[in-house]
Amino acid sequence: MLDVAAQNGPLIDRLTATAADVIRSGRYILGPEVAAFEREVADYIGAEHAIGVSSGTDALMVALMALGIGPGDEVITTTFTFFATAGCIARVGATPVFVDIRTDTFNIDVEQVAAAVTNRTRAILPVHLFGQACDMEALSGVAAKHSLPIIEDAAQAIGTKSSIGPVGSLGAYGCFSFFPSKNLGGFGDGGLVTARDAVLADKARVMRAHGSNPKYHHSVIGGNFRMDALQAALLRVKLPELEAWTAQRQENASRYDVAFSDSGLDESLLRPPPRRFEGHIYNQYVLRTSRRDELQAHLQAERIATAIYYPVPLHRQECFAHLGYREGSLPVSEQASREVLALPIFAGLGQARQKRVIDNVIGFLGQ
Ligand SMILES: *Cc1c(COP(=O)(O)O)cnc(C)c1O
Repeated sequence: MLDVAAQNGPLIDRLTATAADVIRSGRYILGPEVAAFEREVADYIGAEHAIGVSSGTDALMVALMALGIGPGDEVITTTFTFFATAGCIARVGATPVFVDIRTDTFNIDVEQVAAAVTNRTRAILPVHLFGQACDMEALSGVAAKHSLPIIEDAAQAIGTKSSIGPVGSLGAYGCFSFFPSKNLGGFGDGGLVTARDAVLADKARVMRAHGSNPKYHHSVIGGNFRMDALQAALLRVKLPELEAWTAQRQENASRYDVAFSDSGLDESLLRPPPRRFEGHIYNQYVLRTSRRDELQAHLQAERIATAIYYPVPLHRQECFAHLGYREGSLPVSEQASREVLALPIFAGLGQARQKRVIDNVIGFLGQ
């Protein structure tokens, strides 16, 4: 699915030299490497402020805690996402309110968001799934109407552009991840909170270090959400390559798109790839087929790796059973969970390997 070691290979000398510099520096947490990374990555994303944190999950925790969201509060989010999105809402004591996705984008259905707002709603938490922006224009309208902050889960969407600007710069906070399989993959866990507003940026920075401001004085309760200097220094080596890697992913995606739409396969068998906005960075290329499990088994037998993101939507997870969402309550996501299959898309996949994937998908489904 993803050959991370191959991607880091050409950079190995600079990475090891950089790691040695950090080891010699004696500064291992935050410090100048993290500050420099924050400036550079904020610039890349197009965000005003950036705060390096310990993971994408912790970025979400920081954002929710900085907005003071807690017990009794509701946060509206998508059910079709990685667990952390809703897990963090529950961990601060609030209630995730799940809404369905749109068939054409896998992203949150803004009309359903508008319908889900109650007098307990404290934030909207959309996800730019697989690297494609949500309809931020419509969502911003709903948020403004009810004076609600938006927390963007941009963990899969570094560099993604929406119709109204770069993701992570549009809401109160943007949350990014440097988990190794993300487009900018680190060497272990790492994450980032972005903010447009200086006051909100400061709040997030304070939350990152136990809520202390100044040191040993706590007017709020935060946590240890700090980024390591080593992580920041190594990510600074990789960041200048990101643009080119993303371009390769986009080229791979176009090749899949063309091959699948030229395949002549019936739409019920191979649904047309979702693509609505430009600016998709293709953290994943996800197709939909009614014969998903058979196709995956066939590809596996051909030694082609695939993945299912996500097999169970969050409203149907056992840990959220007490929220009372029945089977069939969010049908678009439930159907997507049965039909989605992510194909290899990483930079460095190469045209020959990609052709094998395409031939096997079309060959199998065309039988
Ligand atoms: C990866 C991911 C996260 C969590 O990021 P980690 O760095 O793994 O903690 C959160 N939300 C989404 C949508 C993700 O894909």
